[in-house]
Amino acid sequence: MTSNQSRSRWLEGPDAPCPEVPSVAHPFRLVLLGPPGVGKGTQAALLSNRLGACHLSTGDLFRAARSLDPSQRSDAMCDAVVAMQRGALVPDLTVICLVRERIDCLGCPGGFLLDGFPRTPAQARTFERILARERIRLDAVVRYELPVEVIVDRIAGRRVCSGCGAVYHVDWRPTTRQGVCDQCRAAVIQREDDRPAAVHRRMATYERETQPLVAYYDELGLLRNVSAHGGPDQICARTLAALDAAGSRLPGAAGGSTS
Ligand code: AMP
Repeated sequence: MTSNQSRSRWLEGPDAPCPEVPSVAHPFRLVLLGPPGVGKGTQAALLSNRLGACHLSTGDLFRAARSLDPSQRSDAMCDAVVAMQRGALVPDLTVICLVRERIDCLGCPGGFLLDGFPRTPAQARTFERILARERIRLDAVVRYELPVEVIVDRIAGRRVCSGCGAVYHVDWRPTTRQGVCDQCRAAVIQREDDRPAAVHRRMATYERETQPLVAYYDELGLLRNVSAHGGPDQICARTLAALDAAGSRLPGAAGGSTS
């Protein structure tokens, strides 16, 4: 299974052309939840390859806006970029508006893996209304768990490609050529919001604004807890097992088994 990795319609807006949608037996519609740096982006890329669903990251959306010429950004996008650079959350209304504009991505027959949205109770409630109106059903909310000290360590060494968004780590997943992306050859950089002061603000914000979503999705019966210890492939296998245990129909699995 290969994924629709260009995500042009998600990143550039509803008028952008969308490359061919992968044909999947069951479109997986998942929300990935967990503190910044827990590895949601890495897991989204692995799960996207496995399940065919598109990786829809609101953080990537704002980073893509940042790389536009400022004259091409709307006022809301300019505010969003400033908030993101401070390590603060983008206002709910701006986020919701951008997600609404991308409703086609949510209804896509290839499914979706939402990373970074919803991030506040207000976003979660509005998202639920959007899904209900569009008759879209979430399969699960996967929540990745890891102690804060381990996360801070991971974030300090994280590097991302300024071109394709591929994620590296200086110790565990270095680029072959220092500072150059293995996939697209663009420069690999440290995100501004991965610098220590911004990381501490983001952690506090997660506790205050996003942690309440754990109870919210638990009550809806959608929550699947997955340990984020170990390497990316191990965590991905654990995620697939959690989905399998919840009765999801995984591709290539006879009778729904991942083994
Ligand atoms: P991420 O890549 O998910 O860590 O997001 C990077 C930054 O983008 C966050 O620190 C926020 O400033 C902003 N952001 C991403 N998603 C959201 C969201 N759903 N609500 C508010 N701000 C967001």
